Amino acid sequence: MVARFTAQELLHSDLLINGEWVGGSQAQRFPVTNPSTGEVITQVASASQADVHTAIAAAQAALPAWSGLTAVERSRILRKWFDLIVENVDSLAEILTLEQGKPLEEARGEILYGANFIEWFAEEVKRLYGETIPTNVSSRRLLTIRQPIGVTAAITPWNFPMAMIARKAGPAIAAGCPMIVKPAAETPLSALAIGRLALEAGVHPGVLQVITGPASVIGPELTASPAIRALSFTGSTEVGKKLMSDCAHTVKKVAMELGGNAPVIVFDDADIEIAVSGTIDSKFRNSGQTCVCANRIFVQAGIHDRFVEALSTAVAKLNVGDGFSRDVQQGPLINLEAVEKVESHISDAVSRGAKVVVGGNRHSIGGTFFEPTLITSATMDMTIASEETFGPVAPIFIFETEEEGLEMANSTPFGLAGYFFTQDLARMWRVSEKLEVGVVGVNTGLISYEGAPFGGVKESGVGREGSLHGIEEFLEMKYICIGAVN
Ligand code: ADP
Repeated sequence: MVARFTAQELLHSDLLINGEWVGGSQAQRFPVTNPSTGEVITQVASASQADVHTAIAAAQAALPAWSGLTAVERSRILRKWFDLIVENVDSLAEILTLEQGKPLEEARGEILYGANFIEWFAEEVKRLYGETIPTNVSSRRLLTIRQPIGVTAAITPWNFPMAMIARKAGPAIAAGCPMIVKPAAETPLSALAIGRLALEAGVHPGVLQVITGPASVIGPELTASPAIRALSFTGSTEVGKKLMSDCAHTVKKVAMELGGNAPVIVFDDADIEIAVSGTIDSKFRNSGQTCVCANRIFVQAGIHDRFVEALSTAVAKLNVGDGFSRDVQQGPLINLEAVEKVESHISDAVSRGAKVVVGGNRHSIGGTFFEPTLITSATMDMTIASEETFGPVAPIFIFETEEEGLEMANSTPFGLAGYFFTQDLARMWRVSEKLEVGVVGVNTGLISYEGAPFGGVKESGVGREGSLHGIEEFLEMKYICIGAVN
């Protein structure tokens, strides 16, 4: 039997340090608001430098016993954590929608998706094989083993408040590494809730700690600490670059999942229905607030008008509302700043000749709700072509040849996800190989799966999450040379 908790029971607002809920060494707290209503949900503890030090010390103390468990023992505890998350999916989804705004069904999807990473790495850890190497000297034997890197840290964003943590903590903890998580200030509640369930599952105190509070206090403490051997970050390229440089002083291993500027290319030979539904999936999920979101949609001239017509019908049908309402596909944006960014991208595009075909304005519901928007006649000089909008705006660019479409798609310093739609098998290969991205979706807008490697190229990041490769970020390979064997 796995315990079931109400959302209220999982709603924690203190720091999770060394298996205890603590208010923090300073009395300060900060509000977490529901983006759909603007109401304050709760006041969460704000960690001080001293709290971060305490957490780092607790993680160091927890390391020997946790990494000393056998892979099978850790695997069983992680499996229990997975079971608890699945059993409590409704309560966790409620908390997630409350603090993040996404539709409840999408929140459920995120919780289960995140849980899958924990299950996957609970299995994968049993297969962390080493190697024996044919020797170069007859009296020597050569082998490798893979060991946990040590204490680790994660800094995560608000767009996937649960899954971005599970993707990091799952492999780190499976590998034997304690992890200190600093969730985004907008969405700390999901992090605290899954931290609670990790404790319930038997993850040792100090192995998964959740430190909430200002990035300006917590970030530098984590990056400067010589005890922390790896940092896994998901967020903006700007902050990622700063963290990489801060981590250089102690030569930490870094895994960086940074911004994208994902292209969608619709070729003349695409199946139009598949292209439209794939574009909707990729563009409007989470109100366009994902790093793999379609940001630029390149459509070949021969299919352009038909595609725009079909896509505008689909965009106009998207229901906007509070994530707890039924039949809502799009919740609010995270805050007013996000709304202003979307507005500035639209007005810049319009001032340079783009046409708004659907939407274009704040939604009549008010708050931070925004109309799903489609614009045409987008050109490469517009801000929307070079910056991630992170909102529900689909800009259509037109191109003539495959070469031109690829050139436009690749003309960005970013390279996380890229999508294209075609029925031509040779083109599927050609374009997949030439797109400068880490993840390619062909005839689909949904690519995430815990068994597949996720990560970017160019300024979109380093390292991979998920798959058999994701655990490498938390491992060191050790070579052992045994002499005098004969
Ligand atoms: P987003 O645009 O998604 O908010 P950010 O990169 O600003 O992306 O934030 C992602 C995470 O990084 C959040 O948890 C945020 O608090 C944290 N963060 C932001 N600035 C810093 C910093 N200077 N040092 C450490 N963490 C930071």
